[in-house]
Amino acid sequence: MSEKTIALVTGANKGIGFEIAAGLGRLGWRVGVGARDQVRRDAAVEKLRAAGADAFGVPLDVTSEESAAAAARQIEHEEGGLDVLVNNAGITGGMSQMPTSVDPAMVLQVVDTNVGGVIRVTNAVLPLLRRSASPRIVNMSSSVGSLTLQTTPGAFVGPIAAAYTPSKTLLNAVTVQYAKELADTNVLINAGCPGYCATDLNGFRGTRTAEEGSRIAIQLATLPDGGSTGGFFDESGPVAW
Ligand code: NAP
Repeated sequence: MSEKTIALVTGANKGIGFEIAAGLGRLGWRVGVGARDQVRRDAAVEKLRAAGADAFGVPLDVTSEESAAAAARQIEHEEGGLDVLVNNAGITGGMSQMPTSVDPAMVLQVVDTNVGGVIRVTNAVLPLLRRSASPRIVNMSSSVGSLTLQTTPGAFVGPIAAAYTPSKTLLNAVTVQYAKELADTNVLINAGCPGYCATDLNGFRGTRTAEEGSRIAIQLATLPDGGSTGGFFDESGPVAW
C-alpha cells in the first residue's frame, strides 16, 4: 500500500466535491475523483493534476450497488487501500418541493442518492477503511437538515423542501448510527455543512465559494486520532441537530 494517505471523494467532478479533492490534493494526498460521467470525471482529474494534485478517476454512480462495489474493487487493486471517504455527491431533486404537491417518487429518488448513496459507498469501501491506521468518513450534509434550526423562528434554512431538506435530516441520523456501530473501531465518521455555496445545486445563488464550502470536509477528513465521531459541524463548530 502507498505511503500516501488515499482518499475518495464522491461527486468530485464539480462544485464543493471538486474543491474537496483539490484541498486534499494540496495536503499531498492521493485523491480518487468519484464521478459518474467519464468526460466530466476525466476533465476534473486533468484539472486537478494540472494544479499539482495526485488525482485519479473512479467511475462511480452512488445510486448503483454494482458501481459502488466496482469502485471499491478498483481502489483495492490499484491503490491497495483507502484511508478517507468523503461522501459528497448529492442532488436536490429540483424546486419547488411543497409537501402538499410533491411527487413521492421524487422524494425517494433524492433520498436514494443523498442517503442510500452514502450507505452504498460507505459499506462498499468500509473493509478497506478498516485496514487504515486512521480512517475517516465525512458525510456532506447541510444545516437545512437540522430540525432544531428548521423550528427556530428566523433561522436561515432554505426554501420549504420536502425531499432535499429531510434527506439531510436522515443523513445526519444515519451518520450517528454509523458512529455508534463503529464506536469500538478507529473509524471517525462525522457530518459536515459547507454553508450556502454558489454551485450548480442552487443555480449559483450561494453566498460562499465552493472552496470555502470544502473547508469543513477537509477539517473532518484530517481529524486527529481520538477526535470527534458522530458529530455535525460547520466551519465555526458544532451545528444543532
Ligand atoms: P453540485 O455542484 O450540484 O455537485 C454535486 C455533485 O454530486 C456533482 O459532481 C454530481 O455529479 C454528483 N452526483 C449527483 N448524483 C450523483 C450520483 N448518483 N452518483 C455520483 N455523483 C453524483 O453540488 P454542490 O453544491 O457541490 O454539493 C455538494 C454536496 O454539498 C451535496 O451533498 C450538497 O447537498 C451539499 N451541500 C451543498 C450546499 C450548497 O450551498 N451548495 C449547502 C449544503 C450542503 P454530476 O456532475 O454527474 O451530476
